[in-house]
Amino acid sequence: EVRVRFAPSPTGALHIGGVRTALYNYLFAKKHNGKMLLRIEDTDQNRFVPGAEEYILEALDWIGIKLDEGIREGGPNGPYRQSERKALYMQYALKLVEEGNAYYAFDTSEELDAMRERLKAAKVASPQYNAITRATMKNSLTLPEDEVKKRLASGDPYVIRLKVPRKEEIRLNDMIRGWVMVHSSSLDDKILMKSDGMPTYHLANIVDDHLMGITHVIRGEEWLPSAPTHVLIYKFLGWESTMPQFAHLPLLLKPDGNGKLSKRDAEKHGFPIFPLNWEFTNPEDGKTEKIIGFREEGYLPEAVVNFLAFLGWNPGTQQELFSMEELIQAFSPERIGKSGTKFDINKAKWFNQQYLKAKTAEELSGYLTGQLNAKGIKFDASKISRIIELLKERVTFPKDFWEEGRFFFNKPEHYDTAVVNSKWTNEAVNIIVEFKDELKKESEVSADRAKDLLNQVLDKNGVKIGKMLQALRLAITGAGSGPDLMQIIEVLGVKETVSRIDSALQ
Ligand code: GLU
Repeated sequence: EVRVRFAPSPTGALHIGGVRTALYNYLFAKKHNGKMLLRIEDTDQNRFVPGAEEYILEALDWIGIKLDEGIREGGPNGPYRQSERKALYMQYALKLVEEGNAYYAFDTSEELDAMRERLKAAKVASPQYNAITRATMKNSLTLPEDEVKKRLASGDPYVIRLKVPRKEEIRLNDMIRGWVMVHSSSLDDKILMKSDGMPTYHLANIVDDHLMGITHVIRGEEWLPSAPTHVLIYKFLGWESTMPQFAHLPLLLKPDGNGKLSKRDAEKHGFPIFPLNWEFTNPEDGKTEKIIGFREEGYLPEAVVNFLAFLGWNPGTQQELFSMEELIQAFSPERIGKSGTKFDINKAKWFNQQYLKAKTAEELSGYLTGQLNAKGIKFDASKISRIIELLKERVTFPKDFWEEGRFFFNKPEHYDTAVVNSKWTNEAVNIIVEFKDELKKESEVSADRAKDLLNQVLDKNGVKIGKMLQALRLAITGAGSGPDLMQIIEVLGVKETVSRIDSALQ
């Protein structure tokens, strides 16, 4: 059975890249009739942000990811929060120590700083705790056994570090990248157990993936450098044969492709990179962070799912619109790219338009009437679906029904100055006056009838429609562009149209 996990750390708002990771896990699991669980990796208590778990759950619910096990769903492999599994990890660290694959280290942070300075001075590119440097550090490999015992007994602070072999090639077969080979001399003796008795991410992640029966680890590329360390830990714990398969997803890049997508980019370009709105205090600097979400910006979850699915994956066909069910059927990790994907918000907008357009008139009417009710604007309910039809092609977000269609409900409060300056000519005004006089004679007017009346006036005066149509639109709607003007006149009716033209002529 395929079993995957989404394992976020509750250290702030879940980034949209995290939502993509969750989505790919979900698609892969469901494609294989497997299970997906949510595990909260909260071993770094200093960075814990209250509310982050709720944010994660709400974001997954919104996007339509259904979990089989997790902090809310429960399940046979719980608890699903690492802080509640604290007691479990030490035995594995101790096993590693006993078998000579890990060791106690007593270095103070001053001593570690001094080591780094020393290595820097010796021009070592990336100073780290490894086979060479550990020989000069204070740890159970260098201190006499008695002293180690004494220190441990007296409660001296210590960490447990992984004993990375000096010369070994570590290999892993990534589902996306193929074989990845790393020499052990480039790896750090990673801390497995911290001095506060908490495991680090590396140890807890592996112990839990093993105990929870995880078969595939699908996660962001930023974890690829940790993967060889993870392979070593699997091997040392004797779990090599059931080690999960890894798939490291390509990075999300800035819109111009230059570097990793960041919160700064989102702020600069004014697009969301988080699923939901949120305001929280960052424990690291005590500052309040305000997060803008796709949901509140008016993106539909099905559009976001489709957008995210294509950020790094493609179906290999021309089809672009996929429901969640269709994505599950079509998804395959072989079609995930290796190189980073540019974050193109216009693509997200395009998907949103497509999904909005595909909604029923009734669903779309709800958006508009909701906005009208909220603003306390009275309206003729029988006209709403007509108005929706006219606006449908012009909206990207639900709020646009109001933005694009407010003139149906309010007389223009101002007129677009650029259009006034360029199109409000004497010639246009003459035609508009005559057209209005013709219109007044009618009790009701269809779009076709309005068009006929206008053409008659134009013919009589020998004026081309292009010379005045925008001015007429300006008089009626206040703007220089919009849906078909004759249809607008039909919806507004004779009385309202005439009164608007009169106001504009004053
Ligand atoms: N806790 C890690 C994170 O926050 C999980 C990485 C992994 O999936 O192994 O992304």
